[in-house]
Order: sequence, then C-alpha cells, then structure tokens
Amino acid sequence: MSGQVYAHVGQPFREAHYDLLIIGAGRMGAALARFIMEQQPQTRLLLAEEGGLPNEEGATILAPGVWHSFVPPEQAQRAADTRDLLAEALTVCGVLDLSADEGGGQVPTDAVWTPELAALVDPAALPVARFDEHGGVYSVASSTLQNAQAAVKAGADLMLNVRCELTGNGHVLLQRLSVTNTHEIVVEQRVSVQADTVVIAAGAAGPPLIEAGLGRVTPHRQAYRQSVRLNLPSTQSSRVVQAGGFILRPQSGGYTVVPPILHPDPCGYTPSGGRLAGVPVGLRREVIESMLDVLDALPALADERLVVGRSIADIPGAWLALPAGGWPLWERLDEQHLLLLGGERADLTGLSVAHELAGELAQARRG
Ligand code: ADP
Repeated sequence: MSGQVYAHVGQPFREAHYDLLIIGAGRMGAALARFIMEQQPQTRLLLAEEGGLPNEEGATILAPGVWHSFVPPEQAQRAADTRDLLAEALTVCGVLDLSADEGGGQVPTDAVWTPELAALVDPAALPVARFDEHGGVYSVASSTLQNAQAAVKAGADLMLNVRCELTGNGHVLLQRLSVTNTHEIVVEQRVSVQADTVVIAAGAAGPPLIEAGLGRVTPHRQAYRQSVRLNLPSTQSSRVVQAGGFILRPQSGGYTVVPPILHPDPCGYTPSGGRLAGVPVGLRREVIESMLDVLDALPALADERLVVGRSIADIPGAWLALPAGGWPLWERLDEQHLLLLGGERADLTGLSVAHELAGELAQARRG
C-alpha cells in the first residue's frame, strides 16, 4: 500500500515514531528510500525534504548527470554498479576525456575526432584522449523523482516543505514551512518525531546539521557550483567532452558547462558575480579564472554564445557537498545517526553508495 505524502502544512501529521527517517530527498536520500523499500517493504520510513521534489535550489536539479568509467581502480566496482542501477535511464552518447599529457589507456585525439568537436576544442592543445563509448548522460532530477515516487508507492511516507533539525537520540524536529503572501518562508508548525535510525542525506547542509544537532564536527566541506549555458549547437548523439577540469555536457540543443571546483567555500559565503574586462557578470571570479586558463584548449569558452549573465541571479548555481576524499560515501555517526553524502562525483558512484547503505541497514535490522 502507498505511503502518505504530506505536501503542505494543511495536511495533519500524527505520527510519532518511524523505523527510519531520511533527511533530504535529493538524489542520495531518494535513492536510499527506494532501495530500502525494495529490500524491506515493511519498513516504516519517512523521507523528509525541505523543498519540493526535486528541490529547485538543491544540487540534484543542477547535477550534470554524466556517467563514465574513468575512475580510480578502488571506485571501479561502484561505478559499474551505478551503471547497472541506472539501466535505461542512461542515454549512451560517449564521453571523451581530452588532455595534454600522455597517460595509460590514451589514444591520439585524431582517432576519436568528430567534425562537431572543432567548435569546442583545439586538438593541438589536447592531443591525447580517452573515449568511453559506453558513457553517457541522464537526468538526475527525473531519476530522483522516480526513486522517491517508487519509495512512496512501496509504502514510505514523504513530507515536503519541512526543515528538519536533529535533537539527539533519534529525535528530529520537523519544522513545516509555508510561504506568506509576501513570499517569505516561515515555520508554520513544529512537530517532534523519533526514529530508530536517522540518515542525514541533506547534501551540503548535512555536515552543519550534524554539527549543530549532535555536536560532532565532520571533515566534509561544501562549495557553491555554477552551471553555465553555452548556446553552441548539440544533438542527441553529441559526445560529452571533459578537459581541463571542465565538463561540456550536450543538453537541450546546446551545452551545459560545468566548471571545476577549485576549493571549498566557507560556510556562510555569499556567492557573488565577478567582473570580465571590467564589466560585472554572473560568473564567479573563480569560474572566470579557470576558464581563462583553458581558453587555448577550449576556445568555445570564449564564444559570445557562452551565457555569462550580469549578476549571480542569472547563472544557475547550487551548494554541493564536498565529501572528504572526494567520493560519495556513507558513515555511521553514532548508534542512531548516519551520514550519506553525494557531492561532485555522485553521478559516477552515488547510486551504488546509497544501495550499499540500504543493504547495511537492512542487515542491521534483520540482525
Ligand atoms: P545529495 O547529492 O547528497 O542528495 P542534494 O543537495 O542534491 O544532495 O540534496 C540534499 C537535499 O536535502 C536537498 O533537496 C535539500 O533541500 C534537502 N535538505 C537540506 N537540508 C535539509 C533539512 N534541514 N531538512 C530537510 N531537508 C533538507
């Protein structure tokens, strides 16, 4: 039987206890909810999300959704498992990784060249390539939505527009939000629930939640990542190009340019646009600088069809968790609380990490 969906504060909520409460219905939390309900359909589970599904401001909605197999050996199994879990959600278009240096498994760029690359890349600056013909793209937002819906269909409860706070010993304060007619978000109702296990899958907000609620400092950080539109033509079969830390992902007839993350941003940093030749733009200074560094190799980034915006509000961006070690992970914090983090490389191994945690929780409940 389907679970309850509490979309707004007008719907009364009378539950006091769950087996499992997942904070955050981004890509990681939603996937975990689905896998748990598949493995243990009798679980009383609440998936609680501060925004909608997916949250318009979360990292999930802006995730590049690029999967390939260029991962270090210790992540290869997780990448392969993620590929299996993605199944038909992945559109195979090939992922091309170009660089200036020779390394293992590389071929000359000419061997994988297609004419449309001429608009993006200078092959003389990026003479060596790796090509994953099985790599491709997927919509992280729609797979997140499907996972959350599948969890609800299998019996999980879902609460939207609720900001959770940890109060210790598996207790969570649910602050149900509403919007006033002046567009201000306010807490309309506070309810406390208790769960045998609480998984914090709140993305970049996870570590600060843990610090505030459980008094535990974690080594994880966060960064504000922008996602830049490049209106050069692409088709369904255009390849994803990676070079100089940038990802150029074919999307809606153009490209989305995903810049590298150079450093964590301090908690409380307010993102702001930089200046390009003295003119205010929406791209942050770090993004402009990393683009300038690779202009010879990726001349597309100097094209006037790159949308630089006039202020930060013009460029989509989101806070992203930076798990220590750089890869998606889960970890136990204490007997009742666990942390699940996706971050920059969640496209590659996030699903398998959520799947592993579901297996672990199922085993703990059986045992
Ligand atoms: P991940 O890749 O780890 O899933 P995201 O940032 O995509 O990370 O998703 C995290 C989700 O957690 C977002 O949808 C965000 O709205 C939600 N979230 C963050 N803080 C809270 C909170 N205190 N209570 C409920 N949901 C939260």
